[in-house]
Amino acid sequence: RVKAQGKNSFQFYTKEINNRAVELLVLENDMHKAIKDQDFILYYQPQISLKDLSIVGVESLIRWHHPKKGMIPPADFIPLAEESGMIIEIGEWVLMESCRQAKEWLDKGYHFGRIAVNLSAKQFHRSNITQQVKAALESHQLPPEHLELEITESIAIENIDVTIETLKELKSLGIHLSIDDFGTGYSSLSYLKRFSIDKLKIDKSFVDDILIDDGGAAIATSTIALAHQMGLKVIAEGVETSDQCAFLQSHQCDEAQGYHISRPLNSSDTQTFFDQYNKQH
Ligand code: C2E
Ligand code: MG
Ligand code: MG
Ligand code: MG
Repeated sequence: RVKAQGKNSFQFYTKEINNRAVELLVLENDMHKAIKDQDFILYYQPQISLKDLSIVGVESLIRWHHPKKGMIPPADFIPLAEESGMIIEIGEWVLMESCRQAKEWLDKGYHFGRIAVNLSAKQFHRSNITQQVKAALESHQLPPEHLELEITESIAIENIDVTIETLKELKSLGIHLSIDDFGTGYSSLSYLKRFSIDKLKIDKSFVDDILIDDGGAAIATSTIALAHQMGLKVIAEGVETSDQCAFLQSHQCDEAQGYHISRPLNSSDTQTFFDQYNKQH
């Protein structure tokens, strides 16, 4: 009986692996096609200053308009893209398209500050990222001060010395660097001062907690203090209510991003947002 059970669970296990492998292959193939067919699109989420309420940036967020499955959010394909290595190709497209869009907005006279692009750990370590960024800026004639790259703490796990070097190289291009989802990673704080970064992004999970309990508020206010003492700016992500916004503002958080300000918008709705927001503020 024990033997039979063992055999069944073994069969089940291999079937799981096969399904997963097939799923990955199909998706990878779809992703190749998606780049060719231009089925990936970028949405943009505005970021504002909590000092003077001006627009200071937009974050590029990828969406996949799948011909059969409809709109697929990044959480459903970015992890697979990382696993399969497709993230390199997708990430390069995101970088190029973001620079193109930013330059177009600049040429139209919009003052949006910076465009922030998410980088995955694999993209950071497995491709010549500095060359890629340089090429994207040059091919669209985008001045580097209008580009920001968001990295996560997970990039530091791989190789701290290489990470420090790469960040220095990127920084020397004249772009801005921020740490996304700050506080959710496993790395220690000691690496922070060795990184050439400009800004910390307080993760949404901490923003959610600021008005729930004292502990939640303490994490947010400590992060703000930490950032400022290190000479860094700090932005809160996932700000959903005016109370959260007021709390952050009264605790000297520099910037905010979230549904309370705006959901991520497609290119033309972003332009409409710029027009309307600037009329009101
Ligand atoms: P992230 O970089 O931390 O981006 C913030 C996510 O929170 C976005 O989800 C955004 O739509 C969502 N968000 C913003 N404000 C609020 C809010 O007030 N409430 C709630 N509930 N959600 C809010 P999205 O667009 O689904 O992206 C999820 C993640 O996928 C991103 O997290 C990022 O890690 C990854 N991602 C998105 N685009 C790219 C990309 O081009 N390249 C890479 N490597 N990763 C990307
Ligand atoms: Mg981000
Ligand atoms: Mg984030
Ligand atoms: Mg996040």
